[in-house]
Amino acid sequence: MVDYEVVTVFYRLPEIRYYRPSTLDEALKLLGELSEKARILAGGTDLVLDLKIKRYNVSDLIDISKLNELRYIIDEGDRIRIGALTSIQEIADSSVIAEKAPSLKKAADEFAYWQIRNMATIGGNLCNASPAADTAPPLLVHEALVKTASIEGERIIPITEFFKGPRQTALKPSEILVEVAIPSKPQPPWRHAYYKLGRRRGHEISVTSIAIAASIDAGVFQDIRIALGSMAPTPVRARSVEVFLKGRKVSESVIEEAVEKLSSDVKPISDVRASAEYRLHVSKALLKDMLLKLVKGGGE
Ligand SMILES: Cc1cc2nc3c(=O)[nH]c(=O)nc-3n(C[C@H](O)[C@H](O)[C@H](O)COP(=O)(O)OP(=O)(O)OC[C@H]3O[C@@H](n4cnc5c(N)ncnc54)[C@H](O)[C@@H]3O)c2cc1C
Repeated sequence: MVDYEVVTVFYRLPEIRYYRPSTLDEALKLLGELSEKARILAGGTDLVLDLKIKRYNVSDLIDISKLNELRYIIDEGDRIRIGALTSIQEIADSSVIAEKAPSLKKAADEFAYWQIRNMATIGGNLCNASPAADTAPPLLVHEALVKTASIEGERIIPITEFFKGPRQTALKPSEILVEVAIPSKPQPPWRHAYYKLGRRRGHEISVTSIAIAASIDAGVFQDIRIALGSMAPTPVRARSVEVFLKGRKVSESVIEEAVEKLSSDVKPISDVRASAEYRLHVSKALLKDMLLKLVKGGGE
């Protein structure tokens, strides 16, 4: 019989002061006073675990989960406004998102499982700034704008400038992310695709994820945006691939040449989910497949 020792590990939450403001103004005032000492709690699906493993050393929690003024999806014609506390499930269920941002809908559909989707918010997904944040690649190809608020006022930050590193964003300690706006694109219509690869089909953090928005007309890539998750310290745009494709005639050989440029846009790491080599190899293969499908009129 094998002799073994049973070790029980408890992760305890540290002692922490807890506030639950009932308005955004109240929350901003509190955050203005507490600044770096406090952390915002939305759905808690990242933060509670992070507090247990002591990723953040804070003495105060400001729970904004009851601020219904930050929970909405509004179609204004030229843009869709999504409140920071909108849950991933609400995004998956929205007919506006399905019609106007289908890759975001697909990312929400494939995000964890329904218990997590009901708690997790879009604001939390972005502010947590994981390289694997599933809503990031679709929002990067839409060139979404993030709105922040603090007692000093509001700021608009292009999402392309929001992620600064793993768990680092452009947010100041006194700011709350309040809204994400997706601009609607002018005609001709854009084609969209999204693919998330994990070690199993559902309930999984991605090994790689890819979002594409492409405007293809007269057999030419008029414009194209490509973004990837889990392939660099932050979610990234594949700028070299985009530059290569833009203005070129659509053909299989052009697509094959383009995907080779991906190596210079990403910096994958090896971790428990996959090796860096596998990540790059599979991302190129998926990107090629997705582009070939898109040019034939398909999307995901
Ligand atoms: C089992 C499991 C499966 C998961 N699967 C996935 C998955 O498939 N895809 C994926 O992308 N993620 C996944 N996650 C991670 C997590 O669910 C998401 O990142 C989620 O969107 C975080 O949102 P939240 O509202 O729970 O954020 P919280 O945990 O409340 O907060 C996350 C971070 O953002 C900050 N924050 C939150 N909201 C704001 C705001 N409005 N302004 C300023 N700062 C803010 C917090 O201070 C904290 O640092 C999973 C997590 C678990 C536990």
